[in-house]
Amino acid sequence: MADNGKNRSEKTHYDAIVVGAGVCGIYQIKRLTDMGLDATVLDSAGDLGGTWYWNRYPGARFDSESYTYGYSFSKELLEEWHWKERFSSQPENLRYLNFVADKFDLRKHMQFNCRVEAAHYDEVENLWRVRVGDGRELTCRFLVLGLGLLSIPTLPRLDGMDDFKGQSFHTFYWPHEPVELKGKRVGIIGTGATAIQVIAEIADKVEDLVVFQRRPNWGAPLNNSEISDEEMADIRSRYDEIFAACARTPGGFEHEPDRRGFWEVSREERVALWDKLYDEPGFGIWLRNFREIFTDEKANAEFSDYIADRIRRRVKDPAVAEKLIPFDHGFGVQRVPLETHYYEAYNRDNVHLVDIKDTPIERVTEKGIRTSDKEFDFDIIVYATGFDAITGAFDRIDIRGAGGQRLRDKWQDGPSTYLGMFIHGYPNLLMPAGPQSGSASTNYPRGIEFGVNWCTDFIAYMMSHGYNRAEATPEAEESWTAHVAKMYSTMLMRKAKSWFTGYNSNVEGHEHGKIRYFVYNGGGPKYVSRANRVAENGYEGIEFAPGPVTGTGTRPAAAAE
Ligand SMILES: Cc1cc2nc3c(=O)[nH]c(=O)nc-3n(C[C@H](O)[C@H](O)[C@H](O)COP(=O)(O)OP(=O)(O)OC[C@H]3O[C@@H](n4cnc5c(N)ncnc54)[C@H](O)[C@@H]3O)c2cc1C
Repeated sequence: MADNGKNRSEKTHYDAIVVGAGVCGIYQIKRLTDMGLDATVLDSAGDLGGTWYWNRYPGARFDSESYTYGYSFSKELLEEWHWKERFSSQPENLRYLNFVADKFDLRKHMQFNCRVEAAHYDEVENLWRVRVGDGRELTCRFLVLGLGLLSIPTLPRLDGMDDFKGQSFHTFYWPHEPVELKGKRVGIIGTGATAIQVIAEIADKVEDLVVFQRRPNWGAPLNNSEISDEEMADIRSRYDEIFAACARTPGGFEHEPDRRGFWEVSREERVALWDKLYDEPGFGIWLRNFREIFTDEKANAEFSDYIADRIRRRVKDPAVAEKLIPFDHGFGVQRVPLETHYYEAYNRDNVHLVDIKDTPIERVTEKGIRTSDKEFDFDIIVYATGFDAITGAFDRIDIRGAGGQRLRDKWQDGPSTYLGMFIHGYPNLLMPAGPQSGSASTNYPRGIEFGVNWCTDFIAYMMSHGYNRAEATPEAEESWTAHVAKMYSTMLMRKAKSWFTGYNSNVEGHEHGKIRYFVYNGGGPKYVSRANRVAENGYEGIEFAPGPVTGTGTRPAAAAE
């Protein structure tokens, strides 16, 4: 583990500061330091790993195939790492990211327990002033934000949460030390992607489990399996092919959509496809499906009925089954949680479903949770209530650009960016995997690697051309944001109460009503070709200003003491 704070030096100026030591920050610091830049990573966590450092709840695992999630940049790394499961679990994922950092000796560039509280652009000196939680002010030429799009957990807004005398935590903050579950009465609030993983994992380990559900989600089987040495050898021999497939598909997975028209094949043929996909591993049921399920209400409804029947077949009590079937959205218009025996958990005598539409939670008490119907006593309460997604981590930092404009204010009604990587008014600030970029609606690391490479090339371009200031034009930002918004208009997901549309009843201003255009829905290949075209055309949409090129590690002349 990291010697936290070891890398904290007296040093106050860097060529680049990367905020976030997740999949994005780890690769970004490699690229920047390989280029010879003097750069550091700051993370509020106690160690590297981002998502996989934080989310230690039982059942936390990939729903991307492990070998499509790992980095693709190093053949040596691909040769050395053995994924043990098709959908690897959190401890192994964290080990992997540590392995990468150690292999490329990246830890020395990282500083932990360093929350970035503010980042102000200093127009006179053309640098960013970064205020860290420990009181330091650091400066840098380039500020690279790898803050994560699901890195700010949100708790429900319930009275009495502090009164509870047992253990309680959000899944994001599941304790690092083992939590004794045997013999415990556990209450869990939420039935989203995380809850579905936890519930299935702990159902047979606890004495009693009460699930408080407001709105059910559509789940489908993960169909996980171990990867043997022989299978891993085969995967290694096919890595080029695998990553080529990921680059070709909209979602960045190996799963390619069925190109036949939904209405051009018979009902029997549709069902035959769905029967096959339901038993296959991973997101096939979502992404190998007919494309119409994303855009055509009738097609989506027919497929949703098919999945509803599958749920009915798996849950013994018909009344419980009906409660587990979503009523307000169709399958696949929100990110689909993949599960392992989730529905079967409700066949156990010790697992109970409480529909809080019927019997709302009134408050958390000293002993448990009181609904309008009764009081439940618990030893542990788990809040599986999701994230202030996409812009949450940006909103938590006092980011001010040219003229002192606060990003939080600019993005009050939703983000506006150029390519998801630049923000007009915030010079030299880069987001390799920002809101509206190619990452959020795809297999993240595929988008992240592209974004990091693109941003690194961009910095190299600036340095080689003697530019020291770059900023997206307002027109470029406006047109990209309009493009992102327009793509929502054809998608059924625009109607969903989901983090894809900025909905979160536990975050002020995000409750309902206004849609936020959070994710780019054009798919990986279109995003990549657009971003590459921008670069080939001399970074169209970006305004550059010449100036002295900062030598590595030296502070720009104007800023020197
Ligand atoms: C439970 C879970 C399962 C997931 N499974 C998958 C999957 O199977 N496939 C997939 O593609 N994606 C998955 N994701 C999405 C996942 O977030 C991405 O795959 C990927 O890990 C994102 O990496 P990142 O580096 O961009 O962000 P993160 O991993 O979120 O890292 C961001 C880092 O920034 C730090 N940070 C934020 N704000 C500050 C600040 N102010 N100061 C200092 N540090 C800060 C955080 O502490 C964090 O460590 C999952 C997400 C969750 C929550």
